[in-house]
Amino acid sequence: MPRIAPRIAGDEALDEAFAILRDGGLVAVPTETVYGLASRADSDEAVAAIYRAKGRPLFNPLIVHVANFAAAQRLAETDERAEALAAKLWPGPLTMVLPLRAGASIVPAVTAGLATVALRCPAHPLMRALLECCPFPLAAPSANRSGAISPTEPAHVAASLGSTVPLILDGGACATGLESTIVALRGECQWQILRPGPIERERIVAILGAGNEILEPASAIEAPGQLTSHYAPAKPLRLDAEEAAPDEFLIGFGAIGGQVTLSAAGDVGEAASRLYRCLHEADASPLARIAVAPVPEGGIGAAINDRLRRAAA
Ligand code: AMP
Ligand code: MG
Repeated sequence: MPRIAPRIAGDEALDEAFAILRDGGLVAVPTETVYGLASRADSDEAVAAIYRAKGRPLFNPLIVHVANFAAAQRLAETDERAEALAAKLWPGPLTMVLPLRAGASIVPAVTAGLATVALRCPAHPLMRALLECCPFPLAAPSANRSGAISPTEPAHVAASLGSTVPLILDGGACATGLESTIVALRGECQWQILRPGPIERERIVAILGAGNEILEPASAIEAPGQLTSHYAPAKPLRLDAEEAAPDEFLIGFGAIGGQVTLSAAGDVGEAASRLYRCLHEADASPLARIAVAPVPEGGIGAAINDRLRRAAA
């Protein structure tokens, strides 16, 4: 059967995107982190279509995207900690896990039946424009088959999901390029980072204080995005490579060159924005294996190394 390619269009397609979502369909959307696969979060059928398109296990909950903090307050129980985080870091690549509000217009499939909901207010102007038109919240995991490399360009979405998504809103290459930092607010004062990301731990400590941080790793059942193998290319991946074996595609960093480089200048921000593009290129190359040069841990380097370890697992 011929595979029909999804339509890729810019802000001229906003009305069309809204109409598809309103009617329970899927639209791939740009965010500053990675491309998302959006559906309305208040419809069982619409949310089921996301899990089906991604081949995502039903126990892995979805992040809900909102236009502003007021919209978040309609879906979750917020307190002054959530307010402080939102005031400083929204819109932006921070997801908060909060108690689900009774009667919130979120179907149980979104939270995988948990009593909490993960909320994010994205910064990308096109996604913000879409959220402004939508009177319903949008569930949106990354727009790729489950477990595979995240998409940072429309072409990555089209290659991974094909015609299962009719429309990809084209917002260019993702500026940040790594999934959001996820922080869970627990009880009265405790908090925990469930996934490292573009917002560094230090910035959250500056707002919530270090004293109440839970440092143990989150349980796999509660945060399945923390699965050991995730964000993975199809080929074996070797970390901390100084040079390539003959059958390896080397992804360089700094002084270590390669077929491609995360950042020749050794800039971790640039490396984050290029990580998934480089992994996609490595996966598509004729070479059988992938090797990646060492990336320092500082700043967003911690999140890059988290993703690389999961990609190699
Ligand atoms: P993705 O949309 O692929 O970036 O993955 C979203 C991730 O958010 C999930 O895999 C979970 O780790 C996390 N998440 C979403 N909702 C919750 C929740 N209610 N509690 C804890 N983690 C969540
Ligand atoms: Mg994902």
